[in-house]
Amino acid sequence: LPNRLKGNEKSVWVEYIQLALQYKPLNLGQGFPDYYAPENVTNALAATAKSDNPLLQQYTRGFGHPRLVNAIAKLYSKLINRDLNPNKEVLVTAGAYEALYATLQGHTNPGDEWIIIEPFFDCYAPMVQSAGGIPRYIALKPKSTSGTVTSGDWVFDRKELESLFNNKTKGIIINTPHNPIGKVFTLDELQFIANLAKKWDTLVVSDEVYEHIVYEPYKHIRIATLPDMYERTITIGSAGKTFSVTGWKIGWAYGPENLLYNLQVVHQNSVYTCSTPIQEAVAIGFELEMERFDQSECYFRSLAKELLPKRDYMAKFLQEVGMVPTIPEGGYFMLANWSALENKLNLHEETDENKDYRFTKWMTKNVGLQGIPPSAFYGPEHKHLAEDYVRYCFIKKDENLKAAADILKKWV
Ligand code: PMP
Ligand code: GLN
Repeated sequence: LPNRLKGNEKSVWVEYIQLALQYKPLNLGQGFPDYYAPENVTNALAATAKSDNPLLQQYTRGFGHPRLVNAIAKLYSKLINRDLNPNKEVLVTAGAYEALYATLQGHTNPGDEWIIIEPFFDCYAPMVQSAGGIPRYIALKPKSTSGTVTSGDWVFDRKELESLFNNKTKGIIINTPHNPIGKVFTLDELQFIANLAKKWDTLVVSDEVYEHIVYEPYKHIRIATLPDMYERTITIGSAGKTFSVTGWKIGWAYGPENLLYNLQVVHQNSVYTCSTPIQEAVAIGFELEMERFDQSECYFRSLAKELLPKRDYMAKFLQEVGMVPTIPEGGYFMLANWSALENKLNLHEETDENKDYRFTKWMTKNVGLQGIPPSAFYGPEHKHLAEDYVRYCFIKKDENLKAAADILKKWV
């Protein structure tokens, strides 16, 4: 393995998807719905496949299918109250993954530092490192760990964040709504981050793939909308998360032309162009949601409504078996502290270094329920902070959430 890839050998997804195939647990691990995607987008894809325009099955414009970049620019022009140029300020990518990759490859020189907030979606650190950059970590920590904990209780220390910024800082990567905590960053927190980015003249990469999954009364705030922030922000989204079609793997980045240019250079020589029919179908999906934007049926509103009872049901059954869940303000994951159940486990049967890996593997094999070990979302120094936790996904059929509750109740 080339040196720049060393240290990136392990992937929690590769390992845990294999584990699920082998032991066939009830799978609350990887984040995807186990039920039908909304008909609007699946019908649009079917119609695209049968379209009388033969070119819809062929290569399309490299930086994004025209119909899709137009739809994306129209939507975000409205959401961030600024006219986006569809051809210069939007790039369509192979999932949010590629948008992150093109951003970090395209904006990192050897030795550049990127500030990463822990826990973080696990690919950020390897992407920074393989681009020659250096991750600098700061952990969100819960203000309290008993009673009812919400994702808003998880905060960063402001002095500590301030101390990470220096002349080598290229940028900070934020994720709101947050995976795995479900935190929806407040205006005050975002303004604090924005002020540091301006003071040190750094970039902000804002991973907003769960932007439409926010529970009342919380509101998603785009850091690109804060004063003088558009100029330094690259914002990332995902059709997989927006329309509950994670297998479609279409994402995007938007931001100022000069910053997006670097991403285009990476994209044109790696992926070059993404799937045409899927982009066409996503574009049709956006056009429909734009038409009914202010109505309650708009999927950007209805999805969170659909997920709220699932969230509350999961929080309740986790509490009933003695875990302490963090109630998320957004997204579809729930972090839970399982340390009160330690006497019911035989963790010595597993050999992993981190206890949350031993817990999740033991549960998969012996209890039949799979979650994700959140220490995968921390840098090497802070993995211990996550060892008493597990991440469960709740965008699952009610009957499967009920089955998860039954499995846990039977076990404890
Ligand atoms: N960022 C976060 C925070 C995620 O949870 C995910 C997984 N959906 C991604 C990026 C990657 O998204 P995609 O599946 O569109 O590549
Ligand atoms: N974003 C999803 C999750 O966090 C899927 C990640 C993946 O498949 N690599 O579970």
